[in-house]
Amino acid sequence: MNERILMIEDNEQNRYLATFLLEAAGFRMAHAATGPAGIARARAERFDLILLDIQLPGMNGYEVAAALRALPGLDGVPIVAVTSYAMVGDREKALAAGCTGYIEKPIDPATFAAEVRRHLPRSPTGGPP
Ligand code: MN
Repeated sequence: MNERILMIEDNEQNRYLATFLLEAAGFRMAHAATGPAGIARARAERFDLILLDIQLPGMNGYEVAAALRALPGLDGVPIVAVTSYAMVGDREKALAAGCTGYIEKPIDPATFAAEVRRHLPRSPTGGPP
C-alpha cells in the first residue's frame, strides 16, 4: 500500500493531473521535470514504479529509460512510458529501451490510476489474479 511513484514529465499540467489522480488513489508521488533530474532521484531514493514521459527536452525518454535500467537496484522497478506518440513502433521502441509498459496520453482520469496499478508487481501475499 501507499507505493511511491516517480513521475518524470516536463509538462506541468500533466504532472498536476497525474498527481491529483494518483494521490487520490493512495500513491505517494515524487516528480522530476527532466531526464537527468529523474535519474538523480531514482539513484538516491527508492520507488515502486517510475512513470516516464517520452517527449522530454534534451535527453528523451528512450535515453532516460536506458540510463535508468543501467542503475544498480532498479532491475525490478517497473518503468512505464507515458506518451502521446501513437505511432506503430513506439511501444516497441519504449520496451526496447527498458520500459516495462506503456500508457497512452492524453491521461484518462477514469482509468489512469488503475492502469498504473496494473503495472506494479503483485504483492507476494497475493490478491486478485
Ligand atoms: Mn513531455
